[in-house]
This record gives sequence, C-alpha cells and structure tokens, in this order.
Amino acid sequence: MSNIHFQCPHCRSRASIRTSEEMTLTMREITYQCRNPECGHTFVVTAEVSRTLSPSAMPNPNVLLPISEVVKARLMRQLELLPEAPQR
Ligand SMILES: [Zn+2]
Repeated sequence: MSNIHFQCPHCRSRASIRTSEEMTLTMREITYQCRNPECGHTFVVTAEVSRTLSPSAMPNPNVLLPISEVVKARLMRQLELLPEAPQR
C-alpha cells in the first residue's frame, strides 16, 4: 500500500499507518499512530476522492465524481471552438 504521509496533529511527529479500510468506492478510513513514544496519539484520517481531473477510459457507472472547475472551464472553451454540426 502506498503511504499518505501524515504528521501527528499534537506533537507534529511522523505517524505510521496501522490499518486502512475501504468504506466506499471513493472513501477510505486510515488509522495512524504517532511514532513519538512520548505522545502515543492514535487517530483516524478520512481519505476521499474529491474530483476528476482527467476522465477514466474505463468509467464505473457507480462512481459519480464532479469534474474539476478548472477542467470544466477548459472543456467549455474547447466546445465553443468546435464548428457547428451540419443541419440535416
Ligand atoms: Zn504525536
């Protein structure tokens, strides 16, 4: 599993992942433990996919994510530049 580095919010020491559980297709709960033995804080981080920057070539219909506002604006500018379709 790749590591998302987190620091303990109390003592600012590096924390290690203890467990990671998939809650939904787009959200995980990750339990961290502070490496500072004098602190010992254990805490849960929620990691969630928040938006799409580039659409998947294999889209899952059960995954509904907003498109980044920056990407959406760029796509709209590109659509405005397209020539209109010929009328039938
Ligand atoms: Zn700590």
